[in-house]
Amino acid sequence: MNLNFITALRSFFRHKSEADPAKPSLMVVEGVESVWSYHLAPSGAPFEALCGRRTMRTSIPLSAWGVRLDHIPEKWCSKCAALSDGQSR
Ligand SMILES: [Zn+2]
Repeated sequence: MNLNFITALRSFFRHKSEADPAKPSLMVVEGVESVWSYHLAPSGAPFEALCGRRTMRTSIPLSAWGVRLDHIPEKWCSKCAALSDGQSR
């Protein structure tokens, strides 16, 4: 687990605890095959991302999706982002 990254996100979003209300049925998950790779999955089903990748639960809040942090080489899956746009609108 990328605990330093999670800790950084938690402090960064300490004042923004609410998830994005436009996407209530999704959660951020981490790819099992590549480090720093994040995907979106349906809430309660963290083991397969919208794009079909195998994933696992992480504690990153949905409000952190797509945020760029300095010195963190994270990747936000563009397929999941596109799929979630279609799902939430
Ligand atoms: Zn994905």
